[in-house]
Amino acid sequence: MDFTFTPKQEAFRQEIRTFLRERLPDGGPGWNGENEFEFARTFLQKLAPKRWIAPVWPEEYGGLGLGLWEQVVFNEEMSYRGAPVTNLSAVGYLGPTIMMYGTEEQKRQHLPGITSGEVFWCQGYSEPEAGSDLASLQTRAVADGDDFIISGQKIWTSQAHYSDWIFLLARTDPDAPKHKGISYFLLDMKSPGITVRPLINMGNQAGFNEVFFDNVRVPRSGLLGELNRGWYMATATLDMERSSVAGSSGSRRSLEELTAFVRETKVNGRRLQDLPLVRNKLAELWIELNISKFLSYRVVTLQERGLMPNHEASIVKVFNSEYGQRLSRAGLHMLGLYGQLHPESPYARLRGRFERWYLISAAITIAAGTSEIQRNIIATRGLGLPRN
Ligand SMILES: Cc1cc2nc3c(=O)[nH]c(=O)nc-3n(C[C@H](O)[C@H](O)[C@H](O)COP(=O)(O)OP(=O)(O)OC[C@H]3O[C@@H](n4cnc5c(N)ncnc54)[C@H](O)[C@@H]3O)c2cc1C
Repeated sequence: MDFTFTPKQEAFRQEIRTFLRERLPDGGPGWNGENEFEFARTFLQKLAPKRWIAPVWPEEYGGLGLGLWEQVVFNEEMSYRGAPVTNLSAVGYLGPTIMMYGTEEQKRQHLPGITSGEVFWCQGYSEPEAGSDLASLQTRAVADGDDFIISGQKIWTSQAHYSDWIFLLARTDPDAPKHKGISYFLLDMKSPGITVRPLINMGNQAGFNEVFFDNVRVPRSGLLGELNRGWYMATATLDMERSSVAGSSGSRRSLEELTAFVRETKVNGRRLQDLPLVRNKLAELWIELNISKFLSYRVVTLQERGLMPNHEASIVKVFNSEYGQRLSRAGLHMLGLYGQLHPESPYARLRGRFERWYLISAAITIAAGTSEIQRNIIATRGLGLPRN
């Protein structure tokens, strides 16, 4: 395979870099908690006029219709700079699902708000008793005249406390086999009967939530696609969620910063970079970073050939998320006692990012499908091993 990008793609890369240098000079806020959402909202307003909120979407829906490799270039540069990724679920999964299954009216109602950066969405799939085994979800939607009435509970709903709308799965036929009685709804978060209760994560941030539905009315126009066919639409979006190609360039930036720290720091008179353990660890992390990039590129080449990545996307998900944990752990060790300092400490090094990342990366092997579930997919669909 030829890994060289075309002159046009490289010119696009330069355009994004220049834009980010001007509009995001210090990079994203990292994991600085509550200000993060406001920062992201403001940043999206800078992207909107360039159609860069959802540049891969077709032009008619507010994107630029970028090709697959231009997408890679775009995601790599954004991720390297630490650009905020708010409304990712709307841009990455919901929007394409509406394009595929929505009515013209649903497209007109929902897509422009996403590409203008004005309407924020959250993803209401998981429930207290339905995570890995999502199809056993219990939230009910019962037809009532022109409406459906929704009752039940979602959990781990990222950004629900900031979101204007939610896309959720609810059971519409309790008597059907579990995958066949689920429908996909689009619901205004201001509807009466919705309660959002933030959950605080290990990094002391309110990132995800419990969302309760107490007889919430959703009009029939909020049903996306066919009744009872929601499962199949949702799984198509989950494949998109796992095949993200941006992962490794955010890590590249962190690894560059860590390498620079190691070069300039002495401990007890010895340069960190001269310690064999440190050197070996860094070399290993750089090699793994490239593996991560090439695994992602493999997914892109499959898509380029018109194939739908499946277990290949799971390989990327497992490797990238576990790599993120290895990198943050190594960073914490190399930073020594500095590694424990919160970004707000005046003594924090590397903007305290490794401390934040170490705490938050614990969740990345769980979110969007756990590593165990990805390994099951790789074993059965990739290696053809028996299910039990
Ligand atoms: C940071 C974060 C953000 C999230 N955001 C959202 C969101 O916005 N919207 C949303 O709907 N959900 C969200 N989730 C939920 C996420 O999708 C679930 O946590 C995940 O699917 C796992 O489900 P669970 O937590 O119920 O764990 P469980 O499914 O109960 O799993 C518990 C353990 O058992 C293992 N296990 C389960 N089944 C099997 C099996 N068949 N084989 C082997 N091992 C198995 C799992 O790997 C895990 O280790 C988020 C989660 C996190 C951590």
